[in-house]
Amino acid sequence: MKSIPIVYSSQYSADLQGHVFPIEKYRLTVERLEAEGILGDVHEPEPATREQLELVHTPEYLDDLAAARWTPRTASSEMALTPEIYRAFVLGAGGSIRAARLALEGRGPAMNVGGGLHHAFADHAEGFCYINDVALAVRAMLSEGRLERVAVIDCDLHQGNGTAVIFADDANVFTFSIHEEHLYPVKQKSDLDVGLPSFAGDDVYLPPLRKYVPAILDEHRPEFVAYVAGADPYAGDQLGTLQLSLEGLIERDRLVLGSCRERGIPAAILLAGGYAARTEDTVTIHVNTYKVAAGLL
Ligand SMILES: [Zn+2]
Repeated sequence: MKSIPIVYSSQYSADLQGHVFPIEKYRLTVERLEAEGILGDVHEPEPATREQLELVHTPEYLDDLAAARWTPRTASSEMALTPEIYRAFVLGAGGSIRAARLALEGRGPAMNVGGGLHHAFADHAEGFCYINDVALAVRAMLSEGRLERVAVIDCDLHQGNGTAVIFADDANVFTFSIHEEHLYPVKQKSDLDVGLPSFAGDDVYLPPLRKYVPAILDEHRPEFVAYVAGADPYAGDQLGTLQLSLEGLIERDRLVLGSCRERGIPAAILLAGGYAARTEDTVTIHVNTYKVAAGLL
């Protein structure tokens, strides 16, 4: 394997009005993959439909979002809400559904160059997240009757709090989050949480991952994994201090994706956060995740 399917659209980008989220990283990641000659088949996503969005979100909240209306449900976010931003995130959510489908069809990894917006709750926004595409992709696959057991492996710097609550009472979905403990957000209860100290570094981060990820896959036996591969545990990140090196992040990806590959479990990779002082470092981390998935690293 030298490439994996990619889901991407130039319409993932929107004017975030100076927000810290480097939305250009999506385009830059695809450009870097292309420049290195390793870009896989690119699939253009369809926007998530209202019916799909209602698999996760409440109608009242979706009405506010669709109208770009500032209400207590939407104003709990830390990002502007414009029709353009709404459209970009609905498309990105459709991309996560598409990546899940491609992973299942190909019996291997597929990447949405977008998504991973794990702080959105069923009925309100949080952080930089309006639509929980992680939950949406999982629910869409479950609702199509394609599978019964899923695991969410969330390795973003921040806890997957929205995802944890959305699946709290769902025995079919195992939620795992490894994150910096003393940091945004207010923690919710995943099926398994590993909250790490600040300045953890590779040596503190990797052992619990090595221990828990294979155990989750063997005990819960998911037929599909949603891998939230945030770049923000990186040492050069501006929002946190988990202090992983580039090599440590590659090892993280190998642990998660290698454990899936060994067991024949398809994985949808969702990019989530990444706020390195130099956006090119964030892009390097995402490209490395792609390379690990494609067997190039
Ligand atoms: Zn994050």
